[in-house]
Amino acid sequence: AREAKLDLIKKHIKVFPDFPSKGVLFRDICPLLKDPLALTAVTDLLEEHVRLTHPEVDLIVGLDARGFLFGPLLAQRLGVGFVVIRKKGKLPGPTVSVSYTLEYGQAEVEVQEDAVYPGQKVLLIDDLLATGGTLYAACELMKKKQADLLGCMVVIELKDLRGFERVKPISVFSLVQY
Ligand code: AMP
Repeated sequence: AREAKLDLIKKHIKVFPDFPSKGVLFRDICPLLKDPLALTAVTDLLEEHVRLTHPEVDLIVGLDARGFLFGPLLAQRLGVGFVVIRKKGKLPGPTVSVSYTLEYGQAEVEVQEDAVYPGQKVLLIDDLLATGGTLYAACELMKKKQADLLGCMVVIELKDLRGFERVKPISVFSLVQY
C-alpha cells in the first residue's frame, strides 16, 4: 500500500525546466493538491511516519508558503496544533526572527513569540528540501524559542544538493527523492 501511495504521489509531481530561472528544475506540487487521492496519500504517509517515529509531537510547524499546504492536514490527523513560520513582516504582534543567507542577499523568517513554548516537541514541515538554507533557518528559529525540535519533514528532497547536511544533526524525512 505504501508503494502504491508513493507511485500515486510521484505521478502528481510535475517538473518544469528553467523555472524560475535558467538551470533550475522546478518540482511543482500543484497537481498533487488538485488530486484528492494523491493528497490523501501524502497525508497518510506523513502521518504514518510521525506515529512511528515521533508519537510524542506537540506541534507541527510549517514553512512559508508551501509548508502551509501540507502541515495543517497532517496536524489535524495527529490531533495537534499547527504553527506558521513566515517571511519577515507578515505576522502581527511580538515575533522572534532569524536571518539567513540566500544565493543573492539575505532573508528573514519569523514566528510569533507565543506560538511555541520552551520544551514543546515540534516537527517542521515544508514541501521541498533543496540546499537546506530555509529549513536550517527554521531550525535556528525553533532553537531560539527553546523548542524540542524532533525533526523535519518534506514531501520532496533534491538529493544532489545535500540539504540534509545543512540541517544536521536534525534529521529530515522525505517522501520522494530526486
Ligand atoms: P532551500 O532553502 O534551498 O532548501 O530551498 C527550499 C525552498 O525553496 C522550498 O521551500 C521550496 O519551496 C523552494 N524550492 C527550491 N528549489 C526548488 C525546486 N527545484 N522546485 C520547487 N521548489 C523549490
